[in-house]
Amino acid sequence: MTLIASHRGGSLEAPENSPTSFRHTAGLAVEQVEFDIHPTADGQIVVIHDATLDRTTNGTGPVAAKTLAELKALVISGTADDRIMTLAEVIELFRPTGITLRMEVKSDVEHQPYPGLLEHALRLIDAAGMRARTVVTSFLAPIVGEAVQAPGLQGRIWLVSPVIMDDCGLPGVVAAAEAHAISHVGIRASRLDAGVADYLRSAGLGVGAWAVNDAASVAKVLDLGMEVFTTDIPTTALAMRAERNKP
Ligand code: FE
Repeated sequence: MTLIASHRGGSLEAPENSPTSFRHTAGLAVEQVEFDIHPTADGQIVVIHDATLDRTTNGTGPVAAKTLAELKALVISGTADDRIMTLAEVIELFRPTGITLRMEVKSDVEHQPYPGLLEHALRLIDAAGMRARTVVTSFLAPIVGEAVQAPGLQGRIWLVSPVIMDDCGLPGVVAAAEAHAISHVGIRASRLDAGVADYLRSAGLGVGAWAVNDAASVAKVLDLGMEVFTTDIPTTALAMRAERNKP
């Protein structure tokens, strides 16, 4: 069965990476919840998509330049009074559910990896006993390579950007995956077809999709038998999958 990951908590159904969206997702029959992590200036980890605060909060500037207290003083856009969650808070919200954590390790404002971020995140995940229910993803192949070296995770997925597909071609994507011992890739839904899926599968890679955000895309990735996909419309995706699985 193709697994469904509620992307940023289902960001077309609730404000992304917010307590509201994560509570919404916790009540859905999805297999995974996708969220994004950045470090704070005082050694904490918070869940927010961009490296800067401007788009999704009433704050400005880099996330990593603020302390947790400064970040907690901000309100998430589109909510009454939702505050940015720590990684530990998101883990605790989902621990009682059967939902897998699909954690995307983000890069800084210069698109460079944050030193030690994955290792730090894994310590928090281990403290909650959640490593076996965690999938690590990143657009940065070396970060995914680091996750490959971390034993006991449920999965590791390299998110392949369209720019990388254009610059390297599928042979280059396969070579980069091999260089980091990566076994699973995620392809943007708009760039996915049977030819792409077959090529990557015949190279021995597991294939999933991301940005599956309308019904036509959901139908396509279900038709292609993707292992997993992230979607901003998890409720629609669940209904479509259930309809197909009817006896
Ligand atoms: Fe993400």
